[in-house]
Amino acid sequence: MRLARSSPGDDTQAGVGPRVILTCLAAVTLSAMTTDLVPPFADDDFQRVLCVVAHPDDVEYGTSSAVAAWTAHGVDVAYLLLTRGEAGMDSSPPEQTAQLRTEEQIASSRAVGVSEVEFLDHPDGVLEYSLGLRRDIARVIRRYKPDAVVAGSWEVETRIGLNQADHRVAGLAAVDAIRDAANRWVFPELLGEGLEPHSVRWLLLGGDPRPTHGVDVTGEPLERGIASLEAHAQYLAGLPGHPPPRLMITGITALQGRAMGVPNAVLFRAWDFHAPPPIAAEALAAAQAADPR
Ligand SMILES: [Zn+2]
Repeated sequence: MRLARSSPGDDTQAGVGPRVILTCLAAVTLSAMTTDLVPPFADDDFQRVLCVVAHPDDVEYGTSSAVAAWTAHGVDVAYLLLTRGEAGMDSSPPEQTAQLRTEEQIASSRAVGVSEVEFLDHPDGVLEYSLGLRRDIARVIRRYKPDAVVAGSWEVETRIGLNQADHRVAGLAAVDAIRDAANRWVFPELLGEGLEPHSVRWLLLGGDPRPTHGVDVTGEPLERGIASLEAHAQYLAGLPGHPPPRLMITGITALQGRAMGVPNAVLFRAWDFHAPPPIAAEALAAAQAADPR
């Protein structure tokens, strides 16, 4: 099982086709700037993965191909969607869109072997960073007990352009919820629900310009990843100019594959919460050099 990056692709606002196309451009830039081969994860690095995203289809622009590779090797993967994407179709009322996108997301998840899909029903398009959102994510982390959490960027500006508001909120809340989930004294009401603290080891960030690991998705994982985006057919039909899923996902993963030296890959930046920060080792070395007693 190896690691790779994902490209948050969709948006909750109508008429977002150009943003999706920018995803391809971001992948081009990422590949062009990579000089050393990005390594895979070790097979035993993680066995349970939770992907936390804002909207239906956010996982399907690359990450889902990595998910397919993981599940094929016995890794258990679950999705947590903070909204149902109900504000994502200009021509459809939110209630109808929520039902459609929920059904398409579940079908999409099945295509890559995901075991569980949960929706938190926070509002689409106006997702707020809040203690309540952190608590809701921490609750799922404590219940599912992942080794790794996959999230998207919380930066304002990313390689795919200016980051969408819900995506920024989702990324930051997910990162903070990882620590919340591990702290007994944060959100003590979760203890009352029978949910003991859980310490996630890995944060895997898609779309980062400094990928540390990759997942080789060549072959079947890529095919399943394409199928997972194709499962959002009715939603994608409402996005003018959206490229065919096969063309888009093949291109995105081919560009990232260059960074790993394989035909198709997905890249991630990984943080190991169970390891001391690199600065700690540097500080210790500096102290010993200054005072070798
Ligand atoms: Zn989105």
